[in-house]
Amino acid sequence: MTPIQSNGYEVFFDDELKDLKDFLDNSEYSKVFFLTDLNTSEHCMPLIGELLPSLKDYDIIEVDPGEENKNIDYCIGVWQMLLDFGADRNSLLINLGGGVITDMGGFAASTFKRGIDFVQVPTTLLSQVDASVGGKTGIDLGSIKNIIGTFTQPKAVFISSRFLKTLDERQIISGFAEIVKHGIIADKDYFQKLKEINPLDLDQEIIYHSVEIKNFVVTTDPFEKSIRKTLNFGHTIGHAVETYSLKNDKRALLHGEAIALGMICEAYLAFRHNNLPEEELQEIVSYIRSVFPDYHLKGDSYGDILEFMQNDKKNVNGNIGFALPSEIGQCDFNIYLTAEQIVEALNFYAGFES
Ligand code: NAD
Repeated sequence: MTPIQSNGYEVFFDDELKDLKDFLDNSEYSKVFFLTDLNTSEHCMPLIGELLPSLKDYDIIEVDPGEENKNIDYCIGVWQMLLDFGADRNSLLINLGGGVITDMGGFAASTFKRGIDFVQVPTTLLSQVDASVGGKTGIDLGSIKNIIGTFTQPKAVFISSRFLKTLDERQIISGFAEIVKHGIIADKDYFQKLKEINPLDLDQEIIYHSVEIKNFVVTTDPFEKSIRKTLNFGHTIGHAVETYSLKNDKRALLHGEAIALGMICEAYLAFRHNNLPEEELQEIVSYIRSVFPDYHLKGDSYGDILEFMQNDKKNVNGNIGFALPSEIGQCDFNIYLTAEQIVEALNFYAGFES
Protein backbone atom coordinates (compact mmCIF):
# COMPACT_ATOMS: atom_id res chain seq x y z
CA MET A 1 0.00 0.00 0.00
CA THR A 2 1.26 3.48 -0.84
CA PRO A 3 2.57 5.27 2.24
CA ILE A 4 0.44 8.19 3.38
CA GLN A 5 2.26 11.51 3.45
CA SER A 6 1.67 13.44 6.66
CA ASN A 7 3.19 16.58 8.23
CA GLY A 8 6.82 15.93 7.27
CA TYR A 9 6.71 12.16 7.78
CA GLU A 10 5.17 9.09 6.21
CA VAL A 11 2.74 6.50 7.51
CA PHE A 12 3.83 3.09 6.18
CA PHE A 13 1.56 0.08 5.84
CA ASP A 14 3.48 -3.15 5.68
CA ASP A 15 2.76 -6.28 7.67
CA GLU A 16 6.43 -7.30 7.49
CA LEU A 17 7.74 -3.90 8.70
CA LYS A 18 10.28 -3.69 5.86
CA ASP A 19 9.99 0.10 5.93
CA LEU A 20 10.99 0.15 9.59
CA LYS A 21 14.02 -1.97 8.73
CA ASP A 22 14.95 0.41 5.88
CA PHE A 23 14.41 3.42 8.14
CA LEU A 24 16.81 2.01 10.74
CA ASP A 25 19.33 0.84 8.13
CA ASN A 26 19.41 4.30 6.57
CA SER A 27 19.74 6.30 9.76
CA GLU A 28 22.66 6.84 12.11
CA TYR A 29 21.21 7.01 15.58
CA SER A 30 23.66 6.75 18.45
CA LYS A 31 21.24 4.56 20.40
CA VAL A 32 17.88 2.95 19.79
CA PHE A 33 15.28 2.45 22.52
CA PHE A 34 11.94 0.67 22.49
CA LEU A 35 9.22 1.90 24.82
CA THR A 36 6.84 -0.95 25.58
CA ASP A 37 4.33 -1.95 28.21
CA LEU A 38 4.19 -5.41 29.79
CA ASN A 39 1.76 -6.63 27.14
CA THR A 40 3.59 -5.29 24.11
CA SER A 41 6.87 -6.66 25.52
CA GLU A 42 5.23 -10.05 25.64
CA HIS A 43 3.19 -9.97 22.42
CA CYS A 44 4.87 -7.46 20.11
CA MET A 45 8.62 -7.55 20.81
CA PRO A 46 8.83 -11.17 19.58
CA LEU A 47 7.38 -10.08 16.24
CA ILE A 48 9.96 -7.28 16.06
CA GLY A 49 12.63 -9.93 16.68
CA GLU A 50 11.18 -12.14 13.95
CA LEU A 51 10.76 -9.38 11.35
CA LEU A 52 13.96 -7.45 12.10
CA PRO A 53 16.44 -10.20 13.05
CA SER A 54 19.45 -8.00 12.29
CA LEU A 55 18.36 -5.40 14.85
CA LYS A 56 20.36 -6.34 17.92
CA ASP A 57 21.64 -3.16 19.48
CA TYR A 58 18.81 -1.60 21.46
CA ASP A 59 17.47 -1.19 24.98
CA ILE A 60 13.91 -1.72 26.13
CA ILE A 61 12.12 0.60 28.52
CA GLU A 62 9.04 -1.15 29.83
CA VAL A 63 6.15 0.38 31.77
CA ASP A 64 2.98 -1.02 33.30
CA PRO A 65 0.05 -1.06 30.87
CA GLY A 66 -3.08 1.06 31.12
CA GLU A 67 -4.45 4.58 31.00
CA GLU A 68 -3.93 4.96 34.77
CA ASN A 69 -0.18 4.91 34.09
CA LYS A 70 -0.19 7.60 31.40
CA ASN A 71 1.04 10.12 33.90
CA ILE A 72 4.02 12.20 34.97
CA ASP A 73 5.35 9.53 37.37
CA TYR A 74 5.72 6.99 34.58
CA CYS A 75 7.07 9.67 32.31
CA ILE A 76 9.78 10.50 34.87
CA GLY A 77 10.57 6.78 34.89
CA VAL A 78 11.03 6.85 31.11
CA TRP A 79 13.26 9.95 31.22
CA GLN A 80 15.31 8.37 34.03
CA MET A 81 15.79 5.14 32.09
CA LEU A 82 16.84 7.09 29.01
CA LEU A 83 19.45 8.86 31.15
CA ASP A 84 20.59 5.64 32.83
CA PHE A 85 21.00 3.93 29.44
CA GLY A 86 23.04 6.90 28.20
CA ALA A 87 20.61 8.40 25.70
CA ASP A 88 21.90 11.49 23.95
CA ARG A 89 20.22 13.93 21.58
CA ASN A 90 20.97 11.66 18.66
CA SER A 91 19.00 8.74 20.12
CA LEU A 92 15.79 7.27 18.73
CA LEU A 93 12.77 6.17 20.73
CA ILE A 94 10.53 3.56 19.10
CA ASN A 95 7.10 3.57 20.75
CA LEU A 96 5.75 0.05 20.46
CA GLY A 97 2.25 -0.10 21.84
CA GLY A 98 -1.24 1.27 21.97
CA GLY A 99 -2.27 4.90 22.35
CA VAL A 100 -0.99 5.09 25.92
CA ILE A 101 2.53 4.22 24.77
CA THR A 102 2.48 6.32 21.57
CA ASP A 103 1.10 9.35 23.49
CA MET A 104 3.40 9.05 26.50
CA GLY A 105 6.45 7.96 24.50
CA GLY A 106 5.93 10.82 22.07
CA PHE A 107 5.70 13.23 24.99
CA ALA A 108 8.77 11.80 26.76
CA ALA A 109 10.80 11.98 23.52
CA SER A 110 9.61 15.46 22.60
CA THR A 111 10.78 16.86 25.93
CA PHE A 112 13.91 14.77 26.72
CA LYS A 113 17.00 16.94 26.16
CA ARG A 114 14.63 19.36 24.36
CA GLY A 115 13.53 16.67 21.98
CA ILE A 116 14.85 13.45 20.49
CA ASP A 117 13.52 11.62 17.44
CA PHE A 118 10.77 9.08 17.86
CA VAL A 119 8.76 6.78 15.61
CA GLN A 120 5.41 5.19 16.28
CA VAL A 121 4.77 1.47 15.86
CA PRO A 122 1.13 1.28 16.92
CA THR A 123 -0.03 -2.15 18.06
CA THR A 124 -3.74 -1.59 18.82
CA LEU A 125 -6.43 -0.83 16.29
CA LEU A 126 -7.12 2.44 18.08
CA SER A 127 -3.54 3.60 17.90
CA GLN A 128 -3.20 2.51 14.26
CA VAL A 129 -6.22 4.46 13.02
CA ASP A 130 -5.95 7.40 15.36
CA ALA A 131 -3.45 7.96 18.19
CA SER A 132 -0.21 7.40 16.26
CA VAL A 133 -1.02 9.90 13.49
CA GLY A 134 -1.18 13.66 13.86
CA GLY A 135 1.59 14.55 16.28
CA LYS A 136 -0.41 14.97 19.48
CA THR A 137 1.63 13.64 22.39
CA GLY A 138 0.66 13.78 26.02
CA ILE A 139 -0.12 12.50 29.46
CA ASP A 140 -2.97 12.84 31.95
CA LEU A 141 -2.76 14.96 35.10
CA GLY A 142 -4.80 13.51 37.92
CA SER A 143 -8.20 12.90 36.41
CA ILE A 144 -7.74 15.32 33.50
CA LYS A 145 -7.01 13.48 30.29
CA ASN A 146 -4.24 14.58 27.91
CA ILE A 147 -3.97 17.97 29.58
CA ILE A 148 -0.14 18.04 29.45
CA GLY A 149 1.41 17.53 26.05
CA THR A 150 3.02 18.82 22.89
CA PHE A 151 2.38 18.86 19.19
CA THR A 152 5.44 16.99 17.92
CA GLN A 153 5.52 14.95 14.76
CA PRO A 154 7.12 11.52 14.76
CA LYS A 155 9.82 10.71 12.18
CA ALA A 156 7.55 7.98 10.77
CA VAL A 157 4.67 5.65 11.63
CA PHE A 158 4.83 1.92 10.80
CA ILE A 159 1.56 -0.03 10.72
CA SER A 160 1.45 -3.83 10.62
CA SER A 161 -1.82 -5.68 11.02
CA ARG A 162 0.12 -8.65 12.42
CA PHE A 163 0.20 -6.93 15.80
CA LEU A 164 -3.59 -7.01 15.97
CA LYS A 165 -3.64 -10.83 16.08
CA THR A 166 -2.88 -10.86 19.82
CA LEU A 167 -5.32 -8.10 20.69
CA ASP A 168 -8.47 -9.23 22.45
CA GLU A 169 -11.92 -8.64 20.94
CA ARG A 170 -12.85 -5.96 23.43
CA GLN A 171 -9.82 -3.88 22.42
CA ILE A 172 -10.58 -4.32 18.70
CA ILE A 173 -14.15 -3.12 19.19
CA SER A 174 -12.86 -0.20 21.25
CA GLY A 175 -10.53 0.86 18.42
CA PHE A 176 -13.35 0.50 15.93
CA ALA A 177 -15.11 3.45 17.63
CA GLU A 178 -12.61 5.88 16.11
CA ILE A 179 -13.19 4.33 12.67
CA VAL A 180 -16.94 4.88 13.07
CA LYS A 181 -16.22 8.46 14.14
CA HIS A 182 -14.21 9.05 10.96
CA GLY A 183 -17.18 7.94 8.89
CA ILE A 184 -19.66 10.13 10.77
CA ILE A 185 -17.57 13.29 10.62
CA ALA A 186 -16.12 13.00 7.14
CA ASP A 187 -17.37 10.25 4.83
CA LYS A 188 -20.96 9.04 4.56
CA ASP A 189 -20.17 6.25 2.05
CA TYR A 190 -17.50 4.91 4.35
CA PHE A 191 -19.96 4.98 7.26
CA GLN A 192 -22.45 2.97 5.18
CA LYS A 193 -19.70 0.52 4.22
CA LEU A 194 -18.78 -0.01 7.87
CA LYS A 195 -22.32 -1.16 8.55
CA GLU A 196 -21.74 -4.09 6.17
CA ILE A 197 -18.55 -5.41 7.73
CA ASN A 198 -17.55 -7.37 10.80
CA PRO A 199 -15.34 -5.16 13.02
CA LEU A 200 -13.55 -8.27 14.23
CA ASP A 201 -12.50 -9.15 10.72
CA LEU A 202 -11.27 -5.85 9.30
CA ASP A 203 -9.30 -5.71 6.13
CA GLN A 204 -6.33 -3.39 5.83
CA GLU A 205 -8.19 -1.07 3.46
CA ILE A 206 -10.55 -0.01 6.24
CA ILE A 207 -7.59 0.89 8.45
CA TYR A 208 -5.90 2.66 5.54
CA HIS A 209 -8.94 4.78 4.75
CA SER A 210 -9.40 5.76 8.37
CA VAL A 211 -5.79 6.95 8.47
CA GLU A 212 -6.42 8.85 5.21
CA ILE A 213 -9.34 10.68 6.82
CA LYS A 214 -7.45 11.46 10.02
CA ASN A 215 -4.40 12.51 8.03
CA PHE A 216 -6.36 14.83 5.76
CA VAL A 217 -7.77 16.59 8.81
CA VAL A 218 -4.50 16.89 10.74
CA THR A 219 -2.45 18.03 7.75
CA THR A 220 -5.07 20.68 6.94
CA ASP A 221 -5.07 21.95 10.52
CA PRO A 222 -2.05 20.63 12.47
CA PHE A 223 -2.59 22.76 15.61
CA GLU A 224 -6.36 22.33 16.04
CA LYS A 225 -7.39 25.85 15.20
CA SER A 226 -10.29 24.76 13.01
CA ILE A 227 -11.23 21.52 11.20
CA ARG A 228 -9.11 19.31 13.48
CA LYS A 229 -11.68 20.02 16.18
CA THR A 230 -14.11 17.78 14.28
CA LEU A 231 -12.05 14.79 15.46
CA ASN A 232 -13.39 15.57 18.93
CA PHE A 233 -16.88 14.40 17.99
CA GLY A 234 -17.96 12.05 20.80
CA HIS A 235 -14.97 13.03 22.92
CA THR A 236 -16.30 15.90 25.04
CA ILE A 237 -18.81 13.67 26.79
CA GLY A 238 -16.81 10.49 26.05
CA HIS A 239 -13.65 11.66 27.85
CA ALA A 240 -15.63 12.80 30.89
CA VAL A 241 -17.47 9.47 31.15
CA GLU A 242 -14.18 7.61 30.60
CA THR A 243 -12.62 9.53 33.49
CA TYR A 244 -15.64 8.87 35.68
CA SER A 245 -15.52 5.19 34.85
CA LEU A 246 -11.76 4.92 35.52
CA LYS A 247 -12.33 6.35 38.98
CA ASN A 248 -15.49 4.47 39.90
CA ASP A 249 -15.90 1.20 38.02
CA LYS A 250 -14.20 -2.10 38.77
CA ARG A 251 -14.17 -2.84 35.06
CA ALA A 252 -13.58 0.62 33.63
CA LEU A 253 -14.72 1.59 30.17
CA LEU A 254 -12.05 1.46 27.48
CA HIS A 255 -11.35 4.65 25.57
CA GLY A 256 -13.30 3.64 22.46
CA GLU A 257 -16.23 2.31 24.51
CA ALA A 258 -16.51 5.71 26.18
CA ILE A 259 -16.25 7.45 22.81
CA ALA A 260 -19.07 5.26 21.44
CA LEU A 261 -21.27 6.41 24.33
CA GLY A 262 -20.10 9.99 23.74
CA MET A 263 -21.05 9.75 20.05
CA ILE A 264 -24.60 8.70 20.94
CA CYS A 265 -24.97 11.62 23.36
CA GLU A 266 -23.38 14.09 20.97
CA ALA A 267 -25.41 12.85 17.99
CA TYR A 268 -28.43 13.72 20.11
CA LEU A 269 -26.97 17.20 20.72
CA ALA A 270 -26.35 17.48 16.97
CA PHE A 271 -30.02 16.66 16.34
CA ARG A 272 -31.16 19.23 18.90
CA HIS A 273 -28.68 22.00 18.16
CA ASN A 274 -27.04 21.44 14.76
CA ASN A 275 -29.81 20.25 12.41
CA LEU A 276 -28.79 16.60 12.27
CA PRO A 277 -31.89 14.98 10.72
CA GLU A 278 -33.81 12.74 13.11
CA GLU A 279 -33.50 9.69 10.83
CA GLU A 280 -29.71 10.10 10.78
CA LEU A 281 -29.69 10.39 14.58
CA GLN A 282 -31.60 7.08 14.70
CA GLU A 283 -29.24 5.54 12.15
CA ILE A 284 -26.16 6.52 14.19
CA VAL A 285 -27.68 5.46 17.50
CA SER A 286 -28.96 2.07 16.35
CA TYR A 287 -25.68 1.22 14.62
CA ILE A 288 -23.51 2.21 17.60
CA ARG A 289 -25.78 0.38 20.00
CA SER A 290 -25.54 -2.74 17.82
CA VAL A 291 -21.72 -2.79 17.90
CA PHE A 292 -20.66 -1.40 21.29
CA PRO A 293 -21.55 -2.57 24.80
CA ASP A 294 -24.13 -0.66 26.82
CA TYR A 295 -22.96 1.31 29.83
CA HIS A 296 -25.11 1.79 32.87
CA LEU A 297 -25.05 5.59 33.15
CA LYS A 298 -26.39 6.45 36.60
CA GLY A 299 -28.13 9.74 37.31
CA ASP A 300 -25.96 10.34 40.36
CA SER A 301 -22.80 10.32 38.19
CA TYR A 302 -23.85 13.41 36.23
CA GLY A 303 -22.36 15.92 38.71
CA ASP A 304 -18.89 14.35 38.41
CA ILE A 305 -19.19 13.95 34.65
CA LEU A 306 -20.10 17.62 34.20
CA GLU A 307 -17.23 18.63 36.46
CA PHE A 308 -14.75 16.61 34.38
CA MET A 309 -16.07 18.37 31.29
CA GLN A 310 -15.22 21.76 32.82
CA ASN A 311 -11.54 20.93 32.30
CA ASP A 312 -11.90 20.02 28.63
CA LYS A 313 -9.28 21.74 26.48
CA LYS A 314 -11.95 22.83 23.99
CA ASN A 315 -13.75 25.06 26.49
CA VAL A 316 -13.72 28.82 26.09
CA ASN A 317 -14.60 31.15 28.99
CA GLY A 318 -16.15 28.26 30.90
CA ASN A 319 -18.42 27.21 27.98
CA ILE A 320 -18.24 23.58 26.96
CA GLY A 321 -17.25 23.15 23.32
CA PHE A 322 -18.55 20.47 20.97
CA ALA A 323 -17.96 19.20 17.44
CA LEU A 324 -21.35 18.15 16.08
CA PRO A 325 -22.34 16.71 12.69
CA SER A 326 -25.02 18.50 10.66
CA GLU A 327 -25.44 15.32 8.61
CA ILE A 328 -23.53 12.04 8.41
CA GLY A 329 -20.23 12.94 6.70
CA GLN A 330 -20.27 16.66 7.64
CA CYS A 331 -19.19 18.04 10.99
CA ASP A 332 -19.12 21.52 12.53
CA PHE A 333 -17.16 22.71 15.55
CA ASN A 334 -17.04 25.51 18.14
CA ILE A 335 -20.59 24.83 19.26
CA TYR A 336 -20.94 25.78 22.92
CA LEU A 337 -23.66 24.26 25.09
CA THR A 338 -24.87 24.52 28.65
CA ALA A 339 -24.88 21.97 31.46
CA GLU A 340 -28.68 21.60 31.11
CA GLN A 341 -28.36 20.75 27.44
CA ILE A 342 -25.64 18.19 28.22
CA VAL A 343 -27.77 16.59 30.93
CA GLU A 344 -30.51 16.15 28.33
CA ALA A 345 -28.05 14.23 26.16
CA LEU A 346 -26.95 12.02 29.07
CA ASN A 347 -30.63 11.33 29.78
CA PHE A 348 -31.12 10.43 26.13
CA TYR A 349 -28.39 7.80 26.44
CA ALA A 350 -29.57 6.51 29.81
CA GLY A 351 -33.20 6.35 28.75
CA PHE A 352 -34.37 8.82 31.42
CA GLU A 353 -37.05 11.38 30.61
CA SER A 354 -35.57 14.90 30.60
P1 NAD B 1 -3.66 1.13 25.36
O1 NAD B 1 -2.40 1.72 24.87
O2 NAD B 1 -3.89 1.14 26.83
O3 NAD B 1 -3.73 -0.37 24.84
C1 NAD B 1 -4.80 -1.19 25.22
C2 NAD B 1 -4.31 -2.50 25.88
O4 NAD B 1 -3.84 -3.37 24.87
C3 NAD B 1 -3.16 -2.31 26.86
O5 NAD B 1 -3.36 -3.18 27.94
C4 NAD B 1 -1.95 -2.76 26.05
O6 NAD B 1 -0.92 -3.24 26.87
C5 NAD B 1 -2.53 -3.85 25.20
N1 NAD B 1 -1.88 -4.11 23.93
C6 NAD B 1 -1.38 -3.19 23.05
N2 NAD B 1 -1.01 -3.80 21.92
C7 NAD B 1 -1.26 -5.12 22.08
C8 NAD B 1 -1.12 -6.25 21.22
N3 NAD B 1 -0.70 -6.13 19.96
N4 NAD B 1 -1.47 -7.46 21.71
C9 NAD B 1 -1.96 -7.59 22.97
N5 NAD B 1 -2.14 -6.56 23.81
C10 NAD B 1 -1.79 -5.34 23.37
O7 NAD B 1 -4.95 1.83 24.74
P2 NAD B 1 -5.38 2.27 23.26
O8 NAD B 1 -6.81 1.99 23.19
O9 NAD B 1 -4.48 1.75 22.22
O10 NAD B 1 -5.15 3.86 23.29
C11 NAD B 1 -5.89 4.69 24.13
C12 NAD B 1 -5.11 5.95 24.37
O11 NAD B 1 -4.90 6.62 23.12
C13 NAD B 1 -5.80 6.95 25.28
O12 NAD B 1 -4.88 7.38 26.26
C14 NAD B 1 -6.17 8.09 24.36
O13 NAD B 1 -6.18 9.33 25.03
C15 NAD B 1 -5.08 8.01 23.33
N6 NAD B 1 -5.43 8.63 22.04
C16 NAD B 1 -4.58 9.56 21.53
C17 NAD B 1 -4.86 10.15 20.32
C18 NAD B 1 -3.90 11.15 19.73
O14 NAD B 1 -4.23 11.79 18.72
N7 NAD B 1 -2.72 11.30 20.26
C19 NAD B 1 -6.02 9.80 19.61
C20 NAD B 1 -6.86 8.85 20.16
C21 NAD B 1 -6.55 8.25 21.39
